[in-house]
Amino acid sequence: MIVAMQDHAAEEHIQAVIERMVELGFNVHRTTGTNQTILAGVGTPGHFDVAEFGVLPGVYEAYRISSPYKLAGKSFRPEGTQIRFANGVVVGGNQVILMAGPCSVESREQILASAKLAKRAGAQFLRGGAFKPRSSPYSFQGMGLDGLKLLREVSDETGLLVITEVMEISQIELMLPYIDTFQVGARNMQNFNLLRELGHVRKPVLLKRGIAATIEEVLLSAEYILSGGNYELMLCERGIRTFETYTRNTMDISAIPVLKKLTHLPVFGDPSHGVGRRDLVPPMALASVAAGADGLLMEMHPNPDKALSDGAQSLFPEQLEKLVAQLRLLAPVVGRSVA
Ligand code: PEP
Ligand code: MN
Repeated sequence: MIVAMQDHAAEEHIQAVIERMVELGFNVHRTTGTNQTILAGVGTPGHFDVAEFGVLPGVYEAYRISSPYKLAGKSFRPEGTQIRFANGVVVGGNQVILMAGPCSVESREQILASAKLAKRAGAQFLRGGAFKPRSSPYSFQGMGLDGLKLLREVSDETGLLVITEVMEISQIELMLPYIDTFQVGARNMQNFNLLRELGHVRKPVLLKRGIAATIEEVLLSAEYILSGGNYELMLCERGIRTFETYTRNTMDISAIPVLKKLTHLPVFGDPSHGVGRRDLVPPMALASVAAGADGLLMEMHPNPDKALSDGAQSLFPEQLEKLVAQLRLLAPVVGRSVA
């Protein structure tokens, strides 16, 4: 931490700041210029609130020089995290991983068709919500346990892995036998109790960015899961809420290289929720991979016009196939491959 004192700050104020820094466990290095004193705190104290220093008498500015997340930070594992799945799929390796499927599991027929189409297009994971966080309580809420069973059944039939959303702690046990990855949705990114519990399971988690979450908040949420001992964690940029209304959200492509720089965790892009319109999904998917994404989470429906949720942003199957063909051409430019 660096604390810059105001010009000509009183010595008693400087001493009070030094005392507090020492109390927290910092080694304090003092530099006194003609007008201003700078205090550099080094060492690794536990949690501290930098804002506490900003309001002390005589302080001009205080800021962190170390990140508040330790396990999520790049330096914890500079080589990057790889997640290996039973069928040989590796997330965080050279290959860009594709997760595709409908927003929600709607019926056996729909999810089986989706699985076959996703597989044919080149996906490694089938996505589909069984528990759905809908903005309106009157919208379709998902098939629950029946949906989980269908996901497992059709994924086994097609050789895909299953990713599906967990909304609350009580669903974790129920889901374990049926899924390969827990998805934590944007609305639950700061459900800290849920994150803590997911830290205790031994099953990969994909954590989506909250609709108004800063990158630091995403990484602090990741820290909740990592600090429980679950290191099989992926992050996902899915658009944030801004003043722009043309798209459903604003897909923050820059978050992808920023996260790749700050963390060792694999980073996904979800262009479907990122823009909310299927015509804009392919360019945002390509942009995500160009920006360094380790994978994509995309909505695709066998009959999007009849989808019970998120039809407008769900790709037609042939659109997904065409997109994957383009991704195969693009990926080598950034040193990656698409199966
Ligand atoms: C979803 O993936 O269908 C979903 C609800 O995503 P998000 O949490 O990003 O809104
Ligand atoms: Mn959706």
